[in-house]
Amino acid sequence: MKGHGTLEAVPDELSAADILRFLQTDDPAVIAHLYRTADRIRAEYVGDEIHIRALLNISNYCIRNCCYCGLRRDNRELVRYRMTADEIVAAARRAAAQGYRTIVLQSGEDPFFTEEIVCDIIAQIRSSCDIVITLSLGERNYQTLMRWFQEGARRYLLKYETSDPTLYQAIHPDMQFQDRIRMLENLKEIGYQTGTGIIVGLPGQTYASVADDILLFHKFDADMIACGPFIYNPKTPLCQTTPDRQRYIQPDAVSVYKVIALARIMTRDTLIPATTALRMITPRDGVRMAFQAGANVIMHNVTPQPYAALYEIYPQQAGVDQFPTREAFVSFLESATGRTVSHGYGDRRAVVEGKRRHPERQHVARP
Ligand code: SAM
Ligand code: SF4
Repeated sequence: MKGHGTLEAVPDELSAADILRFLQTDDPAVIAHLYRTADRIRAEYVGDEIHIRALLNISNYCIRNCCYCGLRRDNRELVRYRMTADEIVAAARRAAAQGYRTIVLQSGEDPFFTEEIVCDIIAQIRSSCDIVITLSLGERNYQTLMRWFQEGARRYLLKYETSDPTLYQAIHPDMQFQDRIRMLENLKEIGYQTGTGIIVGLPGQTYASVADDILLFHKFDADMIACGPFIYNPKTPLCQTTPDRQRYIQPDAVSVYKVIALARIMTRDTLIPATTALRMITPRDGVRMAFQAGANVIMHNVTPQPYAALYEIYPQQAGVDQFPTREAFVSFLESATGRTVSHGYGDRRAVVEGKRRHPERQHVARP
């Protein structure tokens, strides 16, 4: 593709140079055109329905130390909690009764939730309500992931955060980028619908590295792609910087909309949420704009108090999840976007049709 003018006929794949140009442009007409194109592709490949996921944050304990995250183990100022298995199952039942068809069980990387304990929770939820279980419990080994899948979990979220190995290493002191990729490959091999994503605007994150992140979404054939802005948390070591606009992507809403649009254009039928982090920095327009730029999914936090307030990844902003019921959230979404909320499970189309690509593993060994 040569320049922005030819975006009207978007090819199946944009080159790294094309992606870079869109990430860097400030031209409002080009940006509007990018969003329109992504929106057209979204309508063609995944339709107009919005999928809502119930989000249950089951524990804020974490053995990891990601430099940007308030749940990191060295944050001694955070009051820690862990929901009991009974509380988790009860919350899942309530969510199903309200009409949610997917529940995301998310937590810090908390060793309390062993293979057995999570198997038991999955079994109890599966036997008592009709809801798809998505897990987002951090890095786990092949056997554990396989057991959870056999027990009935169907989706897993693990963002690679950045595909720049140097930046990854700098902000994840005790983790390896290769381990993330290997685990994502394991998830796909086992049969999970596999979600990944990035943080946009990390200090030191260049436009070029975000272009690579987007190319990797396509190469990996991710089923779900979550992209939110970096939000500074004063209880973490990663500083708030004013990045040089020429070189570094900004942690702002427009950067995130662009990444959503480019991910949609590159991956076509994936599930792309308007993330909670995006809604944190743009409580009023974030949802509407993200859904105009290619998004088709949103999470609704169903974590009960007092736990919800303690899941402090970044400073909470009042009003983001102020909707007490699914019904209230649905009516907000439908009036903000002019689209309708799905009653289905919200599986990726390629998965339902058995057309998912299985890119070659980059890592042969299983951990
Ligand atoms: N522990 C699991 C994991 O890391 O995959 C799941 C929970 S973790 C809190 C969920 C996501 O929060 C991470 O993938 C990361 O992208 C996001 N996150 C953490 N701190 C953030 C920050 N300061 N700004 C934006 N996103 C952040
Ligand atoms: Fe733990 Fe996940 Fe936060 Fe990293 S991003 S510190 S693994 S909760």
